Amino acid sequence: KVRVRFAPSPTGALHIGGVRTALYNYLFARQHGGALVFRIEDTDSHRFVPGAEEYIIESFKWLGIKFDEGVSFGGNYGPYRQSERRDIYKKYVQVLLDNGKAYIAFDTPEELEAKRKEVPNFQYDASTRMSMRNSLTMPKEEVDKLIAEGKQYVVRFKIEPNEDVHVHDIIRGEVVINSSILDDKVLYKSADELPTYHLANIVDDHLMEISHVIRGEEWLPSAPLHVLLYRAFGWEDTMPEFAHLPLLLKPDGNGKLSKRDGDRLGFPVFPLEWHDPKTGEVSSGYRESGYLPEAVINFLALLGWNPGNDQEIMSMDELIKLFDLHRCSKAGAKFDYEKGKWFNHEYILMKSDEEIAQLFMPILKEHGIDAPMDKVVTVVGLMKGRVSFIKELWDTCKFFFVAPTEYDEKTVKKRWKEDSAARMTELADLLESLDDFSLAHQEEVVMKWIEDKGYHMGNIMNAFRLTLVGEGKGPHMFDISAVLGKEETVARMRRAVE
Ligand code: GLU
Repeated sequence: KVRVRFAPSPTGALHIGGVRTALYNYLFARQHGGALVFRIEDTDSHRFVPGAEEYIIESFKWLGIKFDEGVSFGGNYGPYRQSERRDIYKKYVQVLLDNGKAYIAFDTPEELEAKRKEVPNFQYDASTRMSMRNSLTMPKEEVDKLIAEGKQYVVRFKIEPNEDVHVHDIIRGEVVINSSILDDKVLYKSADELPTYHLANIVDDHLMEISHVIRGEEWLPSAPLHVLLYRAFGWEDTMPEFAHLPLLLKPDGNGKLSKRDGDRLGFPVFPLEWHDPKTGEVSSGYRESGYLPEAVINFLALLGWNPGNDQEIMSMDELIKLFDLHRCSKAGAKFDYEKGKWFNHEYILMKSDEEIAQLFMPILKEHGIDAPMDKVVTVVGLMKGRVSFIKELWDTCKFFFVAPTEYDEKTVKKRWKEDSAARMTELADLLESLDDFSLAHQEEVVMKWIEDKGYHMGNIMNAFRLTLVGEGKGPHMFDISAVLGKEETVARMRRAVE
């Protein structure tokens, strides 16, 4: 049974790379009829940021990534917040101490610092541990005495040197590392009675029966240690499979994408706007920038994976069908923000005019416009192809809702001819006399009038546009006048020639 997890540490806003990791886990779980678990890894209390957990949950709600179990979702493998699992970790730390796979160390931070100064490239491992203050070098009575006295200690993993550790990674194949390069990692600290990430992560993945660990490449260096931990517990048979996802790179491919790149280049790296409670800083989010969640999902899905052909537009359901860890790239994925905008544009086009109108309504309200839904739907239908974001619809469409008060100077100079005022008065009279103001009828009557009078079609249309729009752009003229209606059209024309 496939069981995967997304296990963020609540240290701040969720980075877009984290969203992609969660998305791939979600696609994999859905495809295999498995479960996606939401676990909070909060054993590092110094890095805890209030509000981060809620922020992460809200982000996934907006994106449409659903969890089957976990913090705020319930389930049979809880608690899912690591700070609520202290007793469980203590028990497993004891298991490793009892079977000789771990040991207690009393070296103070100052002692370790002094050692680092004395020995260049000092590493706490098989070659040095016998010269340090720990339960391997001290008599048992002394160790017990120090603990009884309340002396702080850590528990370290006893890594056997000179062993090739094999990690099988679904994306990268076989990764081999020699255990001698690993240090005796701290697994537990008596000071806060909490395990470190590595121990908690392994114990939880085991107890929560996780079948596949799908996470960012930054965790690949930890994977050999994790394999050794599974082995130390005797859990190799049920060890999860690993897949380390490629990094998200800066747009120019030079290094990992960071929050600062977003600030510098003007795009969000967070799903939702984030108010940092520590610094008071506000960072932009995809939601607030006007992205549709479906577009963000589609865009992220292709950062590090492809379906094997050049198909780009894929719904969540299609992604669930097509996703394949074997098709994830090993190399980092360049973050291309322009492409993200393109996806949003495409998704705006794919949505019905009614859906986009619903999203546009509140923006119109903000500008004090109270327009009937059917008019907004028609306007959206005419204009949505011209924007990448819903909020751009206001600037593009406002002339449908407010009459121009100014006329673009350059356009007037170029397109408003000597006889334009007279022609527009004539045309306004003609339009006013129409009973049928439908687009087709208007067009027919006006075209015939131009022809009968021998007027210059381009001049008439340019002037007509100026009177209704105030500038030289916009959709087909009779689309505009039909939406505005007879009264408004004629009023705008008369006002323009006053
Ligand atoms: N808590 C880790 C993180 O913040 C989880 C890493 C993992 O998936 O093992 O990314």
